[in-house]
Amino acid sequence: MRTTLVAGNWKMNGSKASVQELVSGIVAGIDAAKGQTLVCPPYVYLAQVADMVAGSAVKLGAQDVSIEASGAFTGEVSAAMLKDMGCDYVIVGHSERRAIHGESSELVAQKFVAAQKEGLIPVLCVGETLDEREAGTTVQVVKEQFEAVLDLAGIDAFKNAVLAYEPVWAIGTGKTATSDQAQEVHAALRAIAAGRDAEVAAGLQILYGGSCKPSNASELFACEDIDGGLIGGASLQSEDFLGICSAG
Ligand code: PEP
Repeated sequence: MRTTLVAGNWKMNGSKASVQELVSGIVAGIDAAKGQTLVCPPYVYLAQVADMVAGSAVKLGAQDVSIEASGAFTGEVSAAMLKDMGCDYVIVGHSERRAIHGESSELVAQKFVAAQKEGLIPVLCVGETLDEREAGTTVQVVKEQFEAVLDLAGIDAFKNAVLAYEPVWAIGTGKTATSDQAQEVHAALRAIAAGRDAEVAAGLQILYGGSCKPSNASELFACEDIDGGLIGGASLQSEDFLGICSAG
């Protein structure tokens, strides 16, 4: 039986004051019995959030990580630094990093490995664009993105990793994949993992992301292969985020 995980990706949003309000609301309202909860603030707020979630059921993660360990890499943040700040998780391969920052699947795989080397749990994002969906290549696209990491890290690495299916056309657009569309891709991803190791595949948490909100979370999370959500916009208001967490 897999535990549900609801993860908030705040992207480049927030201020010290809004972070204070958001995290106090989440910590006060969270029901650990409903599943696991993770928040991923911008780097600059990690210390503030780490203090606020200490002793609560809310875990801390970052939105990206460098492949380098240390040194002359201006602007980069290493996995060891994230661990040092109290992170347990890090998102890798978000479609905004792939599209805006030109991250290849090979680089994402290296980030995944760098994160795990320091004991972080990577949340690996995969997903197709609208053109790719309309061309009927959804499963092929997510398979290639997933296999780039499987080939470098190996299936055993997914004993301590999370996969997130995020159709790019559903991110921040208000268009959610139907539960049937999402379940179909989640099942395909689990089958790809099962092709390497059935036991690891059975235990792998696969999150759905893309305009997930309190009103659609229950239906999505009820699907056999959907084990929670990666939430963007709706993770910025504690009531909305808690509403999704309670759907677990
Ligand atoms: C995301 O960017 O990971 C995401 C799922 O965003 P949203 O919930 O706003 O669609």
